[in-house]
Amino acid sequence: MALHSRNAAARITQSKLRDMNGMTGNNNTLDILIRNGSIIDGSGLARWQGDIGIRDGKIAAMGPSLSSRFHAASLIDATDRIVSPGFIDTHGHDDLMFVERPDMLWKTSQGVTSVVVGNCGISAAPRPLPGNTAEALALLGDSPLFPSFQAYFDQVARLQPMINVAVLVGHANLRLSAMRDPHAPIPTQEEQHHMEALLADALKDGAIGMSTGLAYAPGSVAQTDELLGLAAVLAEHGAVHTSHIRNEGDDVEAAVEEVLHIGRRARCSTVLSHHKCLMPGNWGRSARTLKNIDDSRRAGLSVALDVYPYNASSTILIPERAEKIDDIKITWSTPHPDQAGAYLSDIARHWQCSKAEAAQRLSPAGAIYFAMDEAEVQRILAHPCCMVGSDGLPNDANPHPRLWGSFTRILGRYVRECRLLTLEAAIAKMTSLPARTFGLTGRGILAPGAQADIVVFDADTVADRANWEEPTLKSVGIEHVFINGMPAYPSTPAARPGHILKPQRRQAHA
Ligand SMILES: [Zn+2]
Repeated sequence: MALHSRNAAARITQSKLRDMNGMTGNNNTLDILIRNGSIIDGSGLARWQGDIGIRDGKIAAMGPSLSSRFHAASLIDATDRIVSPGFIDTHGHDDLMFVERPDMLWKTSQGVTSVVVGNCGISAAPRPLPGNTAEALALLGDSPLFPSFQAYFDQVARLQPMINVAVLVGHANLRLSAMRDPHAPIPTQEEQHHMEALLADALKDGAIGMSTGLAYAPGSVAQTDELLGLAAVLAEHGAVHTSHIRNEGDDVEAAVEEVLHIGRRARCSTVLSHHKCLMPGNWGRSARTLKNIDDSRRAGLSVALDVYPYNASSTILIPERAEKIDDIKITWSTPHPDQAGAYLSDIARHWQCSKAEAAQRLSPAGAIYFAMDEAEVQRILAHPCCMVGSDGLPNDANPHPRLWGSFTRILGRYVRECRLLTLEAAIAKMTSLPARTFGLTGRGILAPGAQADIVVFDADTVADRANWEEPTLKSVGIEHVFINGMPAYPSTPAARPGHILKPQRRQAHA
């Protein structure tokens, strides 16, 4: 709908900037000059040949032959290479990794320069009341959670994030922090008000929105009215509502409708996380869920979705699924860590028990479920509102390969091999669309004045290498990654260059 006018605006910006000599006064020095690349600016427009100059963490100039007008401290030759905005991972679970393993090679090595964390209802803050817990929190890591986002941000800033990070507050955290019995279906009025107050605090601290995890305890017992109350707070703050919907199998259509209904009623911008239809009997139903999304957009709801480019899912091991899905691979297990990487059917055979019993004995544990359809993945990915989110689980001993390969797999498999998307369209899904959806100002676009989050890659060779057998192999073809103007990959920067991305309107009052 707005695509045409947006393109027109971007075209004007582009032609204007090509005529300009430097964008910031008479200063003719640059920190870095990326020369002679095929520039794909993230807007969806066609590539053009030119140079990009970086100064003080931002893009200072773009155009042809900048070297004749500028003196650069460092030169990058991008001949025969694509130069694009750094990729934005819309769906990360790296919350505690900014504390535990801040180098984050799994992100930078595939060109990711920003991540949205706090997904699926679970986040690093606020900390649950003593005695309250939820199994899904195990997906995040081992470090203690933080009492508030202010405390989390202070710690992340002290350690310096490698990549830029924006956070959602998890609905499970709100329940666990506000309800005496977080597994009760309906909060008391006082508890509901407490959750809304905690949400408002998180947004004031700099969270960009709230995520729900309605398939996991305790979100699974929450009723729509509770979520509507929280969504009203989000709408008031202009914040985003994202959801791991209640059911991605037999009831997927009703579950999508519930989340769209909340968005429409509360008038709050909504994102459906890692959209999929699980189990062969449900393959094909995305035609109807996507139609509902389109209808909701036409009715005025701001809604987007994300997907990871694989036909298998991953989360905690759910014993009820053990007999329903043939192929289940264990990613970690607390009582049986040696089984990480093994298939549930093999473990059950070896232990001479049913798969359900083996799953019980392995729990708490994580798993990969092979129950998705490639055609569905492609249909969802191709939808104009669909972004890319890795849903990577860096705390897993034997993770789903999406952690290390989602973005390069889009470029290698879905652009170059399957020709499902043009390179320009794929990059827009991984840059400007998420930046707009989550309000990440100055990100996801190559333009003078924008932050210098930039990837240089070889479109002919870029590919994921992480696979089911070797899930932590680094991608190939990503040649340079700059984050806020600092080289971040393959060289390791002396100081980690990421920023905490807070909503602009609130930052102004901070
Ligand atoms: Zn999820």
